[in-house]
Amino acid sequence: MIFLALTIYTNQISEVLMNHIQGSLIHEGKAKRVFACENPNRVLIEFKNDATAFNAKKRSEIDGKGRLNCKISAALFKLLELNGIPTHFLELQSETFMIADKINVIPLEVVIRNIATGSLCRETPINQGTILNPPLLDYYYKDDELGDPILTEKRLKLLDLISTSQIEEVETITRSVNKILKEYFDDLDLLLVDFKLEFGFNSLGKIVIADEISPDNCRFWDKTNSDPKGRILDKDRFRQDLGGVIDAYEEILKRIEKDSSNAS
Ligand code: UDP
Repeated sequence: MIFLALTIYTNQISEVLMNHIQGSLIHEGKAKRVFACENPNRVLIEFKNDATAFNAKKRSEIDGKGRLNCKISAALFKLLELNGIPTHFLELQSETFMIADKINVIPLEVVIRNIATGSLCRETPINQGTILNPPLLDYYYKDDELGDPILTEKRLKLLDLISTSQIEEVETITRSVNKILKEYFDDLDLLLVDFKLEFGFNSLGKIVIADEISPDNCRFWDKTNSDPKGRILDKDRFRQDLGGVIDAYEEILKRIEKDSSNAS
């Protein structure tokens, strides 16, 4: 009896230790809230249902988006960690909260493209659908008021946000992530068209991938659908008012989960 009571008690303690206690709100972004927790080197990140596009000029609330992006990001961060890529992800706390390293965000958006679409085709004469080999990597300065301007290499160095060797590190990590994710999604019958990564320094001063990896910041085209609009399974459905946003995000999670149940 005493043994049973002790077991229940210790189980309760480990529950408390595992579930980080939500502290004060540190930051609220367009799609996420970041909360302090009892460990100063960690944060709790809540994925919201808010959807924004075109520098938040277009806004909406999409039921279920937070849960899907949280679960998709967690699965992809785990995959990257298994492949030796450093990320801020530690574990899922619930369906919409993840525990992550507290980081100092580097105000850069690193975009890598395998297929030309989006701003690349709006801003240059490059045709939609052009295969980019090697993948094109661009830096944008993360600043909503400035409209996240694209940076030349010289402007990036002039800004002096990170050293030249850290720029090389960020580029190497981004290209490795692209290779890993492109092959992974190819097996799920999805083309990884392009995506955006953000980086930060963790408490040990190490550069890690931060933010999220989800249909909000990646473009996915369904290889089994040749219709140029029908094949879109990412935030472009929201940007272009195509409808079916949640169904598209569900489809991405379904294929990821099917893959992990096959693997186990
Ligand atoms: N992206 C993002 N946040 C931004 C801008 C772009 O996550 O503020 C992602 C976008 O989802 C796509 C990739 O980065 O996967 C390239 O986006 P692009 O430059 O083509 O911009 P867009 O056409 O969305 O304006």
